[in-house]
Amino acid sequence: MRMAVIGGGTMGNGIAHVFAQHGHEVTLIDVKAELAERALKTIEGNLMRQVKKETLTEADAKATLARLRTATDLKAAAGSALVVEAVFESFPVKKEIFTALDAACGPEAVLATNTSSISVTKIAATTKRADRVVGMHFMNPVPVMKLVEIICGQATSPATLEYVTKTSQDLGKIPVTVQDYPGFISNRVLMPMINEAVYCLMEGVAERDAIDSVMKLGMAHPMGPLTLADFIGLDICLDIMNVLYEGFGDSKYRPCPLLKRMVDAGYLGRKSGRGFYEYEQK
Ligand code: NAD
Repeated sequence: MRMAVIGGGTMGNGIAHVFAQHGHEVTLIDVKAELAERALKTIEGNLMRQVKKETLTEADAKATLARLRTATDLKAAAGSALVVEAVFESFPVKKEIFTALDAACGPEAVLATNTSSISVTKIAATTKRADRVVGMHFMNPVPVMKLVEIICGQATSPATLEYVTKTSQDLGKIPVTVQDYPGFISNRVLMPMINEAVYCLMEGVAERDAIDSVMKLGMAHPMGPLTLADFIGLDICLDIMNVLYEGFGDSKYRPCPLLKRMVDAGYLGRKSGRGFYEYEQK
């Protein structure tokens, strides 16, 4: 099957990698040729790591790379059976892309979004094929994580759901279908936990390491919530809390003032070198 991935960042290159590794011809589209090329280099590096770990043969890695091509024009998605969009988490940007994809792609093509928090229903409504628009929420790092949260928008058809479910299974993933409400399941459950951990820190209930230790040792979480927040990015955590707060209009989702203050200070976690912990800048 030919498919296209829009955006070659953290998620887009992982999604393109997994599809190509499972035999699909993939067109990876980014705004600039150098960004698409950089995504390809990242995929190559990750494939070589798999070869080193002996989870992939060198021949399979080469065949995977040969199935990937890059482009900068969304029209290059024409002819794809499935398009997965993974650009910035901004509705205006996604709207522009879905309008262009709707015009460029054949009427049967399914358009999926990897959004973590924007309404799939709202994205679908920017097209004339809302029945063939769906959420495919992959997890980071895509080649490693098994889950694909499949988001069913208001107008998503059963045939579209069945198609993306089967496609995800064929990638060796485990799809789970959820309805299109703010935060879906993943972020609706995860983010309030992280937010509450930040409240515990702010209120002095315990120190940073103690909060993380309780959740790691007591609940068998692989990472404590504050470490995880740094990994995700504190700005992303704040954005998602705001989506939940506004989406439900319920004060139980109010973002913790300490989380806001950290973001205001530019302490965004791993990516800025400092969040709840400090990191060496690469
Ligand atoms: P990113 O910033 O790493 O990458 C975004 C890419 O999109 C960039 O390469 C950018 O150049 C490209 N882009 C922007 N506008 C474009 C356009 N008009 N046409 C083509 N390409 C364009 O972002 P990311 O972390 O990969 O996130 C992408 C999406 O996935 C977001 O919706 C995010 O919410 C979601 N998501 C992210 C994670 C995560 O852990 N990072 C997890 C699940 C879902």
